[in-house]
Amino acid sequence: MNNQQVKKVVIAGGGTAGWITAALLSRVMGKTLDITLIESDSIPTVGVGEATIPPLQTLHDILGIDEKAFMAATNATFKLGIAFENWHNVGLDYIHSFGFAGRDSWVCKFFNYWLAGKQRGMVTEYGDYCTEHLAARQNKFAVLPRTGLNYAYHFDAGLYAGYLRKLSEPWGVKRHEGEITSVKLRESDGFIESLQLARGEVIEGDLFIDCTGFRALLIGDALGTGYKDWSHWLPCDRALAVQTESVAPPIPYTRSIAHGSGWQWRIPLQHRVGNGLVYSSGYMGDDEAHSLLLGNLEGKPITEPKPIRFRTGTRTHHWQKNCIAVGLSSGFLEPLESTSIHLIQRAVHYLIKFFPADTIRQLDIDEYNRQLSTEIEYIRDFIILHYKVTERNDTDFWNYCRTMSVPDSLASRIELFKETGRIFKHGLELFGEESWIQVMIGQGLMPKLPHAVTSEMNDDELSNFLSGIKEKVNKDLASLPIHSDFINYYCRSATAKSGMSTDKA
Ligand SMILES: Cc1cc2nc3c(=O)[nH]c(=O)nc-3n(C[C@H](O)[C@H](O)[C@H](O)COP(=O)(O)OP(=O)(O)OC[C@H]3O[C@@H](n4cnc5c(N)ncnc54)[C@H](O)[C@@H]3O)c2cc1C
Repeated sequence: MNNQQVKKVVIAGGGTAGWITAALLSRVMGKTLDITLIESDSIPTVGVGEATIPPLQTLHDILGIDEKAFMAATNATFKLGIAFENWHNVGLDYIHSFGFAGRDSWVCKFFNYWLAGKQRGMVTEYGDYCTEHLAARQNKFAVLPRTGLNYAYHFDAGLYAGYLRKLSEPWGVKRHEGEITSVKLRESDGFIESLQLARGEVIEGDLFIDCTGFRALLIGDALGTGYKDWSHWLPCDRALAVQTESVAPPIPYTRSIAHGSGWQWRIPLQHRVGNGLVYSSGYMGDDEAHSLLLGNLEGKPITEPKPIRFRTGTRTHHWQKNCIAVGLSSGFLEPLESTSIHLIQRAVHYLIKFFPADTIRQLDIDEYNRQLSTEIEYIRDFIILHYKVTERNDTDFWNYCRTMSVPDSLASRIELFKETGRIFKHGLELFGEESWIQVMIGQGLMPKLPHAVTSEMNDDELSNFLSGIKEKVNKDLASLPIHSDFINYYCRSATAKSGMSTDKA
């Protein structure tokens, strides 16, 4: 055990990870901690990371963020889910929405009743029984008081970090501009003692948070913490990102369009669209990626395409000695389900839960690492599912993905669902049963049989039950405005393109 009390926290890096850490830590523990954030104006942030998932609202609640003000300040739009196009097979698409279809019974998920109805020839698409799914398809959205929609946001990543900075500084965070050139370790125990900056300053601390992105200056370079490589399961290792002008009002979901050796994202903001191609360098060259992306844009590019390299995987230890890796320094799965910013939030959540009352204990470190790794592995499995369960056999990339071996934890879930229609959420797992069902059937995995209890319903009973749900969904939908009309009324940003026509469904 190290005997130093933890009072001075140094956050290295000021991207989304650095500023979420600074905001949450100062909001919750700002009266007792001395928090410094170091960022370098000459080292850009990764510049992507603009799609989120619903738990971000919990972070915003803790930070006391006003939704309308935050959305206007970051050119944000609403997100009801992700459309996966060409993933199941070329020409097929589905939406993984944040909603829940139908009504579950205590015995089993609604999905089983839908499956029974499908086998008896009395249903339409599964998504037709879910308000979020249909709202996305029909480009509708509103924030509803109680029985509301489940949603997240798309926002401008640069503006978001700036927004959090404005919150954090009044809560006591001291921002220090400068480039970190070296990390000094204490001889006695190898803990980090200080960071040396290019201009000669030395920043000392008790606890260091590595938010330096893929560089991982502290956790990787200085402490030599290992990295678990998952690229055999998640083979994409490059991205090319470009921003374009909007050519239509923003839709309330992210688009993920699969190509021959990777996939393309489209993230609609109020003032522009974020685009990128995620691909595997083993199957696609950079020049091909460049022309594929530029040939599949809807609007005129407003930035130069930015290449990004990564290796999918995770740190063997996220907390090592007196250093905690948060953000890209801690690993990267890949952006398919927009889980990276969520993992930043979780890492800081755990940091606060495990914050040493006096000194840093190995017991805390071990438990922190165990819990966070478990969460990450569940998310990893969920992302691999999209690649593994597919009917695509049109390229070497998809043939590899479809036939690769997957972690046992995932293989057994796929098998259980295929045979029985059963899926269970584990304790620390982010994605619930509904998400697994939507993606499994969306990718083409349909169980053989529904739950036995569905046989208790005769055809009339089942048909009435299913059509009652559909009626309710359609009634809810009828009262929703078009997404862009709602944004204009609720949170229009000053920079959003003026005079943009709003489309009518
Ligand atoms: C292609 C791609 C798409 C993504 N899409 C999504 C998405 O849709 N949703 C999602 O949740 N996540 C997404 N992510 C992940 C998301 O972008 C990151 O989790 C998030 O931006 C946090 O990055 P970061 O702050 O860790 O690193 P960075 O943004 O790289 O920030 C690093 C910071 O460290 C500073 N720094 C580095 N070196 C030094 C030094 N020597 N001295 C001083 N300062 C230094 C830099 O100045 C910068 O401030 C995506 C990532 C990639 C690669």
